Amino acid sequence: MADQRELVILSLYPRDMNIYGDRGNLLALTRRARAHGFEPRVVDLNIGDTLPEHVDIVIGGGGQDSGQIRVAADLAGRAAEFQALAEGGTPMLVICGLYQLFGHRFVTTSGSTLQGIGVLDVETRGGDERMIGNVVVDSRDFGEIIGYENHSGYTVLGSGSEPLGTVLQGAGNNPDDGSGGARSGNVLGSYLHGSLLPKNPAISDFLIATAAQRRYDAFEPRAGVDQTAERARAAAKRRPR
Ligand code: GLN
Repeated sequence: MADQRELVILSLYPRDMNIYGDRGNLLALTRRARAHGFEPRVVDLNIGDTLPEHVDIVIGGGGQDSGQIRVAADLAGRAAEFQALAEGGTPMLVICGLYQLFGHRFVTTSGSTLQGIGVLDVETRGGDERMIGNVVVDSRDFGEIIGYENHSGYTVLGSGSEPLGTVLQGAGNNPDDGSGGARSGNVLGSYLHGSLLPKNPAISDFLIATAAQRRYDAFEPRAGVDQTAERARAAAKRRPR
């Protein structure tokens, strides 16, 4: 359609960082972008690839520690580029393994330190306890965020990031302080798989609206209520931890 406007979605490290169906975030986001009248163009960024000239939205998933080591090394060389994108207001969503690497550092259970790029003011240590199960986070910006966690990383926030919300069920960033996820500007980090976006269209809408405002100076929502998402949210909430 003539009025369809492009949005470039950068998918980070799909080869190494795509666990528990995180690729579903990309499917949900592109679908929702179309429903709002945009034409999404997905660009994969794997290790060694060149960043495209223009990026509207960045998303990335989780991975095994081995994948994280490879990715951390590649990401370190791009820290300035991602910091500039974040400072310019580009909306981003990073899950689990990439959430950890978008923070300052991830110290693994074996004691090695993976340097992060510090786009989020968070820091993570691998712990003895694995946090596994369904999670509900009460958030100011997105209502109830519903997903599934599986991590041993224990994440704490500094003053430069605010939690996405308060955990109602599950562990979230860690089992102790009740915080779930992190946000600095338009960059969101979360432990939640599931995948997250098919069950949380409010977050897709935030990414799309923010990108559209930045690129086209306007956003008029066109997508209606996602009934499938509503049913999935209700079913996930009924499930025990
Ligand atoms: N290795 C990390 C952890 O367990 C990340 C796991 C993930 O991305 N699912 O904390």
